[in-house]
Amino acid sequence: MESTPCSAGLERLQQPILPLVRLVFLLFLTGPFASLAELLAELPEEIEIGTTTYHQPATLLAPYLDLLCDLETLREPGPAGQIVLDEAGQQVEGLEAVEAWIGQQILTRELEDINSLLCRPCGCALCCVGPEAGMAQDFFEIPLQAAEIARFPLPRIDNDISRAATAMDNPSPACAAPAAALYHWQTGWSLILPRHHACPQLDMATLACRIYPERPEVCRRPQIFAYILERDGQRNLAGLPVYVLRNKVLAVWDCPYVQRFQAEIAIFAELCGLEPVFKENKG
Ligand code: SF4
Ligand code: SF4
Repeated sequence: MESTPCSAGLERLQQPILPLVRLVFLLFLTGPFASLAELLAELPEEIEIGTTTYHQPATLLAPYLDLLCDLETLREPGPAGQIVLDEAGQQVEGLEAVEAWIGQQILTRELEDINSLLCRPCGCALCCVGPEAGMAQDFFEIPLQAAEIARFPLPRIDNDISRAATAMDNPSPACAAPAAALYHWQTGWSLILPRHHACPQLDMATLACRIYPERPEVCRRPQIFAYILERDGQRNLAGLPVYVLRNKVLAVWDCPYVQRFQAEIAIFAELCGLEPVFKENKG
């Protein structure tokens, strides 16, 4: 492949980790390996799966080891930490549920890297600014964890009205926002960016994030998403969070690299055994 600023991200799209993870799954369940570490130590230098060749597969899997270790629970199944339902509402159990759970975590981590590699060369700041002229929305919302709000030197709206509402209520208390602010909603904190306002951590001269290594979780994961499982709102069953099995990769069409690399993203999803879905978010 000719080297371009996006080459590193494209190479990762061509070699998704999930097919390799599935092979490891199968080997672990059917082979004589006492532990995952033993299995990885015995992997060959090269593995071919379909049209993809994985060089040094144990090295490729190393960044996911902590997540793969959940595989070992299959030998001595204990209570799951979540409930997985299919789209018809039937509970998915055993191997399929564990595979979906591990797959979602691994794909999320892999896509965090791929998104970062593809975003940086784009010179785009769409994720970091409020709606532009011609867009229908009055504001964009960036959900934050409580521990992340200190990274933003902004006014905080935290009162009975905000805590009884959500940003997407109609009408939303955020519609009247005169400037960027942090809101404490019923569902947690978010950064509200009204029209013509930018995240205070965006360097407008370079369009770079000033806190890139410490940027919030939500900023790490645009605009291709792992959508193997979807959290079912705030729903719990028997005290456990409920997830719905979707088996998809979701890519947001507003993003320039999603538009440019639509074919590559679709092939990536298919290699992972997942359905690619492209959807518009803003505008
Ligand atoms: S924290 Fe950084 S990546 Fe996140 S919205 Fe602000 S400038 Fe963008
Ligand atoms: S829309 Fe895409 S390219 Fe633009 S800032 Fe967001 S992730 Fe990066």
